[in-house]
Amino acid sequence: MIIQVAAKPKLQPKLAAGGGSYDLIIIGGGPAGLAAAIYAGRNRLKTLIIEKMVLGGQASNAYHIENYPGFPEGISGAELGRKMTEQANKLGLQVAWGKAGGIKKTGNKQIEVEVDGKTMTGRAVIIATGSENQKLGVPGEDEFHGRGVSYCATCDGAFYKNKNIMVIGGGNTAVEEALFLTRFAAKVSIVHRRDQLRADKILAERAKGHPKIYFFWHSVLEEIKGEKFVREASLKDLSTGKKLIVPIDGVFVYIGSKPGTEFVRDLVKLDDQGCIVTDDQLRTSVEGIFAAGDVRQKNLRQIVTATADGAIAAEAAREYIEKS
Ligand code: NAP
Repeated sequence: MIIQVAAKPKLQPKLAAGGGSYDLIIIGGGPAGLAAAIYAGRNRLKTLIIEKMVLGGQASNAYHIENYPGFPEGISGAELGRKMTEQANKLGLQVAWGKAGGIKKTGNKQIEVEVDGKTMTGRAVIIATGSENQKLGVPGEDEFHGRGVSYCATCDGAFYKNKNIMVIGGGNTAVEEALFLTRFAAKVSIVHRRDQLRADKILAERAKGHPKIYFFWHSVLEEIKGEKFVREASLKDLSTGKKLIVPIDGVFVYIGSKPGTEFVRDLVKLDDQGCIVTDDQLRTSVEGIFAAGDVRQKNLRQIVTATADGAIAAEAAREYIEKS
């Protein structure tokens, strides 16, 4: 288990010592996990978050969030994550930095979670591991990752000043990030496999009206080519079967995400997509283990639904812990 000191002391949660016993262990420190920690903290549960990357989760990468209530001008994902972390810290949040491995039920209200070789014990566990970017799986994608292929516009966008960029996907993430990339790029081409965007109408209208954004409709990316860096993309128009080579400097892939459930696939019930199946109290198929946020089977994956999940799961976990 890697124990790190956060960069900003004001935001620094208490670090968990190796091993230890908790009322509640939350795996994943995104909006769902942090909201659960806030609700658990207010109920004085001794709570541990296990996080492998950054508190705030994937949402921290979003340049601008416009639909989280309370922020009429919008807020950056990083700032929202910082605010949630600060709120949880005030309630005595403890964090173990590392990757959760196996989860084992070892007794009544005793669940062991392994973090980089150390064992943490909780009376209840909330899985809030979110999801990670889906890859396209085309030739060149892995080869040029970091050399023109990216999954994070906030991290890499500034490298593409006055360049030509391609964004793959038609959902909210693809369109939001394409709009963000227009700050730097000369031209942003959205490649979408249908002729209708999946993104919210307000975003779709903004992208369609943007002078730097172009569309390749009913098209798919088949190959990314280059030398040291990406140089061109091979597209296929699905309606005509025609292939097209487009000179390009960068490819940003936003074709959805897959749930972070690999480590519990033999433990809790998953659906066909690998998402955790829960009831309305966010209980999983294993007593004492709950799931919250994008990792669970649900219709609407948003920050606001993730935080709501965190609250519900923390409350259900508290009831479970206190039940004799
Ligand atoms: P998404 O909504 O699942 O959209 C994925 C897009 O990629 C779809 O347009 C899909 O095409 C396309 N796609 C999937 N597989 C593909 C493939 N193999 N090749 C080419 N295209 C492919 O994913 P997302 O945009 O990452 O969003 C995930 C969730 O987060 C959604 O619920 C979304 O609403 C939410 N989100 C919300 C906000 C916001 O409200 N501000 C921002 C970001 C994300 P089809 O349309 O043809 O299926």
